[in-house]
Amino acid sequence: MKSKKIALISAACIILLFGVVWQHFNSHKFVVETLAQKPTEPGIVHTFYAAAVETKPQIKPPQEKVLRLPILMYHHVGDLPDKADGTRQDLTVPTAEFEQQVKWLSENGYKSIHLADLDNYAKGKFIMPKKPVIFTFDDGYLDVFTNAVPILKKYNFTGSFAIITQFPGTQEGNNVYASWDVIRDAYRQGNEIVSHTQNHFDGSNPKFNSEFIQQNLCGSKTDLKQNLGINTNILIYPYGHYTPDYINQAKICGFNMSLTVHEGSRINLEDLMEIPRVRIHGRQNFERFKQLVSE
Ligand SMILES: [Zn+2]
Repeated sequence: MKSKKIALISAACIILLFGVVWQHFNSHKFVVETLAQKPTEPGIVHTFYAAAVETKPQIKPPQEKVLRLPILMYHHVGDLPDKADGTRQDLTVPTAEFEQQVKWLSENGYKSIHLADLDNYAKGKFIMPKKPVIFTFDDGYLDVFTNAVPILKKYNFTGSFAIITQFPGTQEGNNVYASWDVIRDAYRQGNEIVSHTQNHFDGSNPKFNSEFIQQNLCGSKTDLKQNLGINTNILIYPYGHYTPDYINQAKICGFNMSLTVHEGSRINLEDLMEIPRVRIHGRQNFERFKQLVSE
């Protein structure tokens, strides 16, 4: 009887030990497999980096409260449509000029990062390159996916695209919005997709109450989740308009980082809800571009 008991206990111990060894082996294998993914494969870069960061918590939060980082703001990249008005002309950077700007940034040692990287940097989870730059594209127009994305890729950069989540695949006047398929393709190539609300409503217009704002902002997150499978905490304010209540509603929906149209390249790391950007105009003088990026 006693020997039977000992045999049973021994068997249980062996099974338990085997389980521990098996689990250890598998978790080790997982890390090895994750780290073995090619960092050059589009879309995998950040998974690879995230895994590395998770296992290296020794990255310290930044000492400084203000970071110099040009976040470039674009809308259209390409040819002007017929009868383009002054606004459209100002919002449209010709493809050749866009390439000239990107080429200059590349030759001058700039490295593009994602908006999420800035968020992680503020939390001490990302190592900032020496000369960071962020390319943002508002509204999700088809021309930026057709013209800007291949140029960014050619120079080893990526962009951040703010999508109005009820607009993909539609057209309004001479504004053609990229379809979800086109957006998904850019996302899979390593570009970042963030929210620009569901319908581009003006956040400072008093006709929109708190309930509407919250529904719209939370809804844009759901739309991005459903169509691309992503969770974003980043919002770009349409027209750069917002109020204290709008910021509160955005926070309730889980946004912790928002971009404005305030001019500047100094980022206050303690307040990521009112981030300034550098607007790139159509017909931007190239010398002025270099000056704006560098100052
Ligand atoms: Zn917009």
